Amino acid sequence: MYYNQLTYLLRVTNSCFLNCSYCMVKDQLTHDRINDTPSDLAPHSLVETMFDKAIGFGEVYLTFVGGEPMMAGKEWFRKTFEIMKSKAEQRCISVSSRIYTNGLLLDDEWVEMFKENGCQIFISWDGLGFGKKGSQKAYEIITRYAKQITTVTPVISKANCHAIKDIYKQLNEAGVKRMTCQYDIYASTEQMIEFGNATCELFRHIESEPLECKTRFLIYHDAKAMALGTGRLSSNEMSAAVLNNDYVINPDGEIILGLPQDEDERFRLGSIYSIGHINDVLFSAKMKWLNDCYVKAQRLIGNYERTNMLTRGGGFFFDKKQIQDMDKPFMAKLACYHVILSYFLNRGAK
Ligand code: SF4
Repeated sequence: MYYNQLTYLLRVTNSCFLNCSYCMVKDQLTHDRINDTPSDLAPHSLVETMFDKAIGFGEVYLTFVGGEPMMAGKEWFRKTFEIMKSKAEQRCISVSSRIYTNGLLLDDEWVEMFKENGCQIFISWDGLGFGKKGSQKAYEIITRYAKQITTVTPVISKANCHAIKDIYKQLNEAGVKRMTCQYDIYASTEQMIEFGNATCELFRHIESEPLECKTRFLIYHDAKAMALGTGRLSSNEMSAAVLNNDYVINPDGEIILGLPQDEDERFRLGSIYSIGHINDVLFSAKMKWLNDCYVKAQRLIGNYERTNMLTRGGGFFFDKKQIQDMDKPFMAKLACYHVILSYFLNRGAK
């Protein structure tokens, strides 16, 4: 088997100035004020090491996550982009990046730097009036930089699922190009079905006003493509290649699988500093166990197989850690996406 593509999620810092109730990393989160520089920033030598341990891969994706990664400051990112550029030139490989942020620190200089370095901007924003990630200030920032932002992603929970159409309208009004959703991983199956029905309501709105709805709702297009058996999905996190080549690197160099609850020993894969190459992780006993779990879960998915492809990882991996056994499908999330896919399947996906 030959792997060409490697995805690193670099947890730039564990610090954040917000405190969202559903935060997937809340157990590891530390808190600083908005203009403070966190004390646990990933050192630039770590970025160098990550590339050095990836020799042989033709494509390296680097995703900046946190905490709030932009708290690292502009100088940290400038230097990181320089390293990435130099590694790409040195090896003639493709290096791309994206950042997941709450967006509250974004300004002209940041936007220019991300543009110059081809770094996609993903903003997590939950809709006006919904928690700290649904603030008016964040909305104004989103409106100002709508054309430069790649995608806005609300977390849909019990609190805001009834307002998903309003959230879409707000983003459409702001001129945002793309919207997708994450569904609260701690929700029950009943709640997940509610999220699925709310999402279908948004589908109906998009279809009733096609000229007005300019923001591309990725889940709508993915579900339609899946039902029709055509097109390309925006996300394929369920593929085995991603399972084996997608690692989170903590600021201290620890390699883990997935973001939440990473104090669980089963998901710790060692330190980037102590391995010879990232493929050493791939052949470890833990990865063998994980691949076994993956196969078992896939075999239990049964009629949800197509639905599973839509879940952005929820059908099996990452975000079900400690919610359901690793060798079982994440049925609650599948139930949500089943409602979404059925919207098109039940009418012949016209
Ligand atoms: S903004 Fe993100 S990192 Fe910060 S508390 Fe909220 S979910 Fe967690």
